[in-house]
Amino acid sequence: MKSSLTTLVITLSAFIIFPPARAQNTYGPVNKSDSAKIYKGGEFYPVSTYSYNGNASTPKNVILMIGDGMGLAHIFAGMTANGGDLYLKNFKNIGFATTHAANRFVTGSAASGTALASGHKTNYGFIGVDTTGKTMENIREMAQDIGKATGVVSTSSVTHATPASFVAHQPSRNMEEEIAVDFVNSGIDVFIGGGLKFFSQRKDGRNLLDNLRSRGYQIATTLEEVSEIEDGKIAGLVAPNGTERKSIRGEVLEVATETALDILEEDPDGFFLMIEGSQIDWAAHGNDTPWIIEEMLDFDKVIGKVLEFAADNQETLVIVTADHETGGFTIENGDYKTGMVTGDFTTGSHTGIMVPVFAFGPGAGDFTGFIDNTDIPGNIMKYLEAQPSKNHAKNRNHRSRKK
Ligand code: MG
Ligand code: ZN
Repeated sequence: MKSSLTTLVITLSAFIIFPPARAQNTYGPVNKSDSAKIYKGGEFYPVSTYSYNGNASTPKNVILMIGDGMGLAHIFAGMTANGGDLYLKNFKNIGFATTHAANRFVTGSAASGTALASGHKTNYGFIGVDTTGKTMENIREMAQDIGKATGVVSTSSVTHATPASFVAHQPSRNMEEEIAVDFVNSGIDVFIGGGLKFFSQRKDGRNLLDNLRSRGYQIATTLEEVSEIEDGKIAGLVAPNGTERKSIRGEVLEVATETALDILEEDPDGFFLMIEGSQIDWAAHGNDTPWIIEEMLDFDKVIGKVLEFAADNQETLVIVTADHETGGFTIENGDYKTGMVTGDFTTGSHTGIMVPVFAFGPGAGDFTGFIDNTDIPGNIMKYLEAQPSKNHAKNRNHRSRKK
């Protein structure tokens, strides 16, 4: 009796100290209603064609776009909902990536974000550190260290696991106030998303907005303010935590991406930008097909904006992938004429299935076939290593690069 009570107490304590996978407070409960299964259809948007002329030997700019939780079914639900078309169809170089964490087959956004940022597997929940807790350099830092401008854009808090993986180094994704401090010290040029409270309403009473201002950042707390900034450094924090779902938040991702591109493209050394469609994952955790489509189409329209830039620029590598699949989502029925989609799910959590990888521009052929998510930054690092900086002197307050 006594030992089973002890076991129970230990088990319960473990859940308090290490909350299970779904305890990531942003996600609502699984929605079992029919309205969450069926998307009735909506307006279609036209999709333009973009191409790369094949002339650049290596990419000057790299844009990594992560649809959080975006599996093939999420993409195809969006494609069906838009009458069979997506900007994603411009990509001719397509592969599949395995996503497992170092210590789990089914990963989460922290371990997979870290894999996509650093090129190394780590443990579930870890941000920018290896399995022993040691800091690992990421591709954004590497780009910054050779003089490129860098940025992250998301519809979650900027301190949430995916964007944090490109900026911070902490043993837990839940340490969002510590991650905010890492943003201040990172030297990043552009970060736009939610997460204001982790900078300005902190347990330690510090107001990091003051620190950001003294480091030359323009602070924007509304989307209108974000849209007005065209150069310099920007901290765009347009929501206290995550932004609202697409139907409520409006064009946050598109406006943030436009501002980021306006600023970053001014750097003669080029730039690295990570853009996250954060809430495809949240919608799939909720088993909510219409919300998945809302977020998927928002992300695809931003893919269109990025391709428009890349096709005009011709020196930009664009990668679109996911950190993992969410929901075990599948499509039971659809109609290209109306855009109707009926979805179903096997889980309210993540799955271990491979995710698609799409590449456009110089180097795009390196991301095809069967790869691992760590190969994506691995390839990007090869391009960065081949490019010595031209304007190295203007950088930066980032710590010097490890061997
Ligand atoms: Mg995310
Ligand atoms: Zn998730």
